[in-house]
Formats: sequence, structure tokens, C-alpha cells
Amino acid sequence: MDSTFVEKILTKYSNNKEVVPSQIVTVKPDHLLKHDNTAAIIQKIQPELNNYGVYSKTLPIIVLDHVIPAASEKTATNHKIIREFVTNHDIKNFYDVGYGVCHQIVIEKGLALPGILILGSDSHTCSYGSIGAFSSGIDRTEAACLLLTGETWLKVPNSIKMNLNGKLKPNVYAKDVILHIIGDISSAGANYCSVEYHGDTSQFNIDDRFTICNMGVEMGAKNAVFLVDNVTTKYLSSIKISASKYRPIYPDKDACYSQELDFSLNEMEPMVACPHTVDNVKPVSDLKGVEIQQCLIGTCTNGRLSDLKIAADILKNKKINSRVRLLILPASKDIYENALKDNTIEILLKSGGTILPPGCGPCLGAHQGCLAPGERCISTANRNFKGRMGCKDAEIYLASPATVAASALKGKITDPREV
Ligand code: SF4
Repeated sequence: MDSTFVEKILTKYSNNKEVVPSQIVTVKPDHLLKHDNTAAIIQKIQPELNNYGVYSKTLPIIVLDHVIPAASEKTATNHKIIREFVTNHDIKNFYDVGYGVCHQIVIEKGLALPGILILGSDSHTCSYGSIGAFSSGIDRTEAACLLLTGETWLKVPNSIKMNLNGKLKPNVYAKDVILHIIGDISSAGANYCSVEYHGDTSQFNIDDRFTICNMGVEMGAKNAVFLVDNVTTKYLSSIKISASKYRPIYPDKDACYSQELDFSLNEMEPMVACPHTVDNVKPVSDLKGVEIQQCLIGTCTNGRLSDLKIAADILKNKKINSRVRLLILPASKDIYENALKDNTIEILLKSGGTILPPGCGPCLGAHQGCLAPGERCISTANRNFKGRMGCKDAEIYLASPATVAASALKGKITDPREV
């Protein structure tokens, strides 16, 4: 039987001859991602951990990123519990405060490879499809069991083939593509499905693919994947991973998809997701003039060097509007260092930006840049739910780094093609 990407990878990891959609399979993932929520996970299974230890020292990847540096006694205590756990169980893949956002670290450190399976107790674990891995979020209780046993079950998803046809126009970016798709099919349009991207994908670099896969969960997808090509292999070789270290998985030519959807890239415009759902998407031209008080460029969705450079190109030798706060959040320490070296940070600072430490920062509303009632923020993050940035009476708009930078200049939502 011809199989899709997800059917092939779950066949391999479940040691079956073949699998079909809706089948329940047991898998042993290569990695389990956890972040600051590790403290809650290990507290659930403390007696078992004391008796049996963790299944494998190399299975967990733990990154402290959500509330860093600690914002309170409670978060500091959580971090301390995690550090003690890491030491006591000799966990090999641990990244303390300052390394960056967990998903960026997994990709940057070469922990995600084509054809492997990663689960994580964070919904945006689906990001590693950008490298050709199967990756998906699971809840904390499942993660706790996985930590002890090394295995868990998955239901084989249906597969959706999305054909990205044509070429993007200038000033239209990967973020606009994924916002357009989510606006089209809705936040439930790919519920528990595996999304495969096909078509003219070679124009998307790994940063672009990361942004698109990262938001797969915002349309309900179990995972999202770009198939391995020259773009992937070049990126992996740039981080010193040779082709002998991985085995890509490709769908068969006559694989069966539950849906096949076509998108014309050449017709796409800069897009904005309006409050309070990610699928409430409009062209930026419909929102021109909406006043904003805060701008955020960063997060696991759009905090890479290419994103910061797009913003810097727009802000070079200019000042942001005096009524606006611009927060810059590099997704990792490496990105921060590279942005310092090539003067991107200097340009952003001189324009009036405030640089935050690499991590999740204001994205989840726990600290650094929370909003006040009645305020509006335009952000490159992936969620604009009510209260997401710390205030249920504030509004969050999601857009590309170019749209956010252009909006910071004008103090209102602005089409990047106009600046
Ligand atoms: Fe989650 Fe935001 Fe952190 Fe990404 S940056 S992992 S979306 S909190």
C-alpha cells in the first residue's frame, strides 16, 4: 500500500508492516522535549523516579525558557527543582537559562533530524517538521509516563497534502503564508491531521519552514512537515550534521490523502490575525490605521536572525513612533550573538527597541512586556488568545516581522510595502 509521510514514519517506529489512519500504535520516540513545566512533570512521578529512575538519560531534552530569568520565588524554585533532577539523573540534553527558546534549541543543536520522531510537552513541538522529522505536542501526564517508560501511544492521523504553488511577492513572508492558510481553513481545519507541504517549497529556507510548521497546531494539526530537499541538507551541513547521520522519509507517489489543498503564493498579501483567534485573519490593508502601543518581534515563530534582519532593514536610521514600545526577543543566544556581530542589534536598539534575553519573554504573558487593559500589541508570535500576554482586556494582532517593524515606525498597523 502506498503511504503518506506520517504513515511511513509511524510504521517504522511501531514496528508494524503498515499502519492506517485511526490505528492506535505504540512508539518509542527519539526525544521528549520539556521546558520549565518539567518541575510539574517530575513531581507527578516522584516515587517512581526514586525507585526506577528515568528510562534513558538521552531521551529528555530540557530547556529553561518560559520564565527566564526567574520572575518570582515560585519560578525560581521550579528552576531549582529541575536543575537538581538534571544532576541526580545525569540528563544529557539540558539547556539552562539563557540558551533560548526550546524549539529553536532543538533545531539549532541538531537534535531534530530528518526521519526521527520527537514528542514534547509543548504544543509547538510540531516545529521540527521543518527538518523532516515527525514531531508533536503531548500533555504533561503523557510526558511523565514517557519519561519513565520510554514509550507512548499515538493514533495514526489522516494526512492533508497542501500544495504551495507559485512565488511569493516582495514583502510577503512565510508568516503571511501560514496566516493565510489558517484563515482559509480555520483553526480546526486540520484537526488531528498530518499536514504535508508540497509544491514550490524550495523558495522557503529552514527559518521559513520553521515558522510555517510551528503554527501547524494553530489549525489543529498533529504534525506538519516539509519533505527533505537540498534546502534541508544544506542547513544540516551548516550545523555540521552530515547526510550519513539521518535517513529522510518521503511519502509514496500514490499515497492517499484525506484532502488536497492548493494555495497560490503569488496572490498572497501581508496578513494579520486579529483578536482573539488565530484564524481571524485579514489582509493588512484592511487594518491600516489601527493604533498600537506595543510591538514584539521574536518568539519560536519569528525570532531568528533572518526575522531580526528584516525588521532592521525597515528600521535602519529611523526611530519608532514615540507612543510605541518595541520589544526584540532573539530566539536563542546564538542568534543574539550573530545579530550583535552583524550590527542588527545595534540598528534595532538605535531605532528605539528594547532587547530582551533569549527565551519566551512576553509571549505567554507571565512576565516582561505584559499588556495593560485597553492596550493593543502587534506581535510575531503564534497566539493571540484573550489574556495571552497577561491581560484579558488587551488585544493581540499577529503578523510578520516586516509588518510589525513597519507598524512600530508609524504607531499603527502598517502595510510593510508602504515603508
Ligand atoms: Fe510557547 Fe511562546 Fe515560548 Fe514559543 S515562544 S515555546 S509559543 S511560550
